[in-house]
Amino acid sequence: MHSFVILYIYIYDRSGVYQPTCSECKMKYIGQTGRPCKVRFQEHLRDFKYNNKRSEFAQQIIDNKHTIGKMEDIMEVVHVIKVGKNFYKNVVVLTEAYIIK
Ligand SMILES: [Zn+2]
Repeated sequence: MHSFVILYIYIYDRSGVYQPTCSECKMKYIGQTGRPCKVRFQEHLRDFKYNNKRSEFAQQIIDNKHTIGKMEDIMEVVHVIKVGKNFYKNVVVLTEAYIIK
């Protein structure tokens, strides 16, 4: 007898390859992070706000006087790093879904 649990994961909580797009000029940026993608997005947001020169994505928005959009609107997580088998014991990941608060 096996029991299965459907686990919904907020995609931005996962680490992997993320792709923010400028909402105005549609310039795409691609990045990779071992931390949750939403944490990485917050950093881009900070770089934009404080005019740090660290983020290419933020820099493009600053230089062109474009506006930065909401994470859910402008960023896509294109690849997630899978968790190890032992991490979710007896849990089968059937699907991943966006959970919008
Ligand atoms: Zn732009």
